[in-house]
Amino acid sequence: MVTKLGIVGVGKIARDQHLPVIAASPDFALTAVASRHGHVDGVPNYASIEALIAAGGIDAVTLSQPPQVRFAAAHAALSAGKHVFLEKPPGATLAELRILEDLARRQGVTLFASWHSRFASGVEPARAWLSGKRIRAVTITWKEDVRHWHPGQDWIWEPGGMGVFDPGINALSIATAILPAFYLVDGTLEVPANRFAPIAAHLHFRDAADTPIEAVFDWRQTGPQTWDIRVDAEEGDLLLSRGGSVLAIDGRDVPLPPEAEYRGLYDRFASLIAAGESEVDVAPFVHVADAFLRGARRTVEPFED
Ligand code: NAP
Repeated sequence: MVTKLGIVGVGKIARDQHLPVIAASPDFALTAVASRHGHVDGVPNYASIEALIAAGGIDAVTLSQPPQVRFAAAHAALSAGKHVFLEKPPGATLAELRILEDLARRQGVTLFASWHSRFASGVEPARAWLSGKRIRAVTITWKEDVRHWHPGQDWIWEPGGMGVFDPGINALSIATAILPAFYLVDGTLEVPANRFAPIAAHLHFRDAADTPIEAVFDWRQTGPQTWDIRVDAEEGDLLLSRGGSVLAIDGRDVPLPPEAEYRGLYDRFASLIAAGESEVDVAPFVHVADAFLRGARRTVEPFED
């Protein structure tokens, strides 16, 4: 059965990924959007999610606005009996997700907190190779140019926007999928003098076997971008690069299918709806919250767009 879907927040990621992937999906049909400024041809456009819901004709919504405003929209959609796909990060606080999960259960609908990087083609082969291996050390390096990826996005610097953790949570979503459970020992958040959220973070994690897991997130990288996870195991070295789309083991590339992260997300959303289940894994988000709880804040030079 095709699920009639609405998108709320027609911005960068909706245009880059959601709209083309939904158009090609056998499981979903875009039937409306809600956006204050964005517009999509060929379907009714509403100014708010309330108007979208009131108009009827949808079974599910994708919420692709900034995380600070997602709870109210998700609550409205679940209350109206709609399935909900949350972009990452799934919200602005951990507690709001518990409320939404409970509401989805009571309403008998699906809540899907998506982590697109987990659907990068190298992630599952990396998880499978690492399973049962004796890991000695892990290095996560996530460095990109904020001016290139987030031009003019003020929400990302505000409370709840998470700053460099907006991309960094992608690294954490992969790490929590391929490694044994780990926890934050200490860290430093570098915060521009004129912003609330960090522009860089240095995080030291350990797992229960005391394995060091070092992570560096930095938004000041120009030139080539770096989205790497390197695992040193007794049985060999694993390098997951380009955000999880390239995998090398002991220096040799592992053949992988082409990139299809958002196709994978919509396939998962469809199977969750069909099974009457929800999927809300907060593990990556817990590490971000811990970084804000446990990390030292260091003021660095102001950042101007
Ligand atoms: P965006 O373009 O800045 O925002 C998306 C849309 O949300 C905007 O076009 C706007 O639509 C609506 N919006 C913005 N601020 C709002 C506010 N204060 N209240 C209500 N609606 C607001 O952001 P984005 O880059 O698409 O990112 C959205 C989410 O997707 C984020 O959680 C991000 O982490 C995630 N994501 C982004 C990327 C990427 O490459 N950009 C990749 C993967 C995931 P209207 O003004 O028309 O209502």
